[in-house]
Amino acid sequence: MSDYYEVLGVEKGATIDEVKKAYRKKALQNHPDRNPGDPQAEQRFKEISEAYEVLSDDKKRQIYDRYGAEAVAGAGPAGHYTGHGFASMEEALRTFMGAFGGESIFDSIFTGGGGFGGFEEGGRQQQQGVSKRMNLTVSFEEAMKGVEKEISLTSYVPCETCHGKRTTSATGVKRCTRCGGTGQIYEQRGFFSMSMGCPQCHGEGEIITDPCPTCAGEGRVKTKRRVHVKVPAGIDTGMRLRLGGYGDVAPGGGVPGDLYVYITVEPHEFFERQGHDIILDLPVTFSESALGCKKEIPSFTAQGVRLTIPEGTQTGKIFRIRGEGFPNVHGSGRGDMHVRVNVETPTKLTVRQKELLSEFAELESANNFPKKKGFLEKLKDLFTV
Ligand SMILES: [Zn+2]
Ligand SMILES: [Zn+2]
Repeated sequence: MSDYYEVLGVEKGATIDEVKKAYRKKALQNHPDRNPGDPQAEQRFKEISEAYEVLSDDKKRQIYDRYGAEAVAGAGPAGHYTGHGFASMEEALRTFMGAFGGESIFDSIFTGGGGFGGFEEGGRQQQQGVSKRMNLTVSFEEAMKGVEKEISLTSYVPCETCHGKRTTSATGVKRCTRCGGTGQIYEQRGFFSMSMGCPQCHGEGEIITDPCPTCAGEGRVKTKRRVHVKVPAGIDTGMRLRLGGYGDVAPGGGVPGDLYVYITVEPHEFFERQGHDIILDLPVTFSESALGCKKEIPSFTAQGVRLTIPEGTQTGKIFRIRGEGFPNVHGSGRGDMHVRVNVETPTKLTVRQKELLSEFAELESANNFPKKKGFLEKLKDLFTV
């Protein structure tokens, strides 16, 4: 039996999140829907699911780390995990569904058909529609304040002529004879019993003999819609918004999928984001930093903020302005603004300026430059030892 950590390609000390992430990636690659008729992928899929089943469970993982795979046998719920691999593909698929928690990633990659995510209605299995994914870019300012965006979306909605029934006549639909109306057929493959979508009715359980003229018997039509998306303040790149019911409706009706909007926040010319905080590099002149000054800092809240730079401020010094960062998208409170002082050495000096600086240099004492003084003393120590 292979090492579970190797199977998932994670370190021994991997966190649960890392285990989950690795599993999702590998399980998707080797999923039977993606590799039809490939027994090697099937075997890998089961192995990966088995490794995940153990490593994602604290208790089982502890036992496995200490005593190996044999010891985990029978540790799970009765009949689920045996320690010798999953009894059937169904077990592996159940683990797969569990790990994805019915999330969009699943919906968007597999378009039903295999009986996933369906629900029973009147004895016939109805499909859950497919979820859709869209990307939306917002500016730095919009992410700071929140914004409402209008997007245009093409998705399947139920046909209004037949109300999703796919036919307008009472006798226009016949129960499928091959699967008896269940939409599923079972096939024995070696030790494994696989259930798959009926090829005759394409998993729908019925065959339309008199299709609706509007939707050609699909029960749904493609429609372009405009949708308002409320982007909350504090949103960050990589976050997604879920708009329930804005995905596609499956052929023959049922519950439509959802729309997932993936957000990208544009970078700002001057501000840099770090979580809820923002960082501003503030250029100050050589004399401003030496003598001290007051600076007007642009702010995303009400008015600008006045920041006092005390005399003798060094380059790289950071001043924190509370509450001037991003609002917390999940709750209350705001991050801070960090103003990083960047002292600029003067260039293109005039003759007069050079004279003044030379005069200044003659008056310099070691006390004016404590950092340099400390550095030179340490360097001296280093060579006298
Ligand atoms: Zn129709
Ligand atoms: Zn059928």
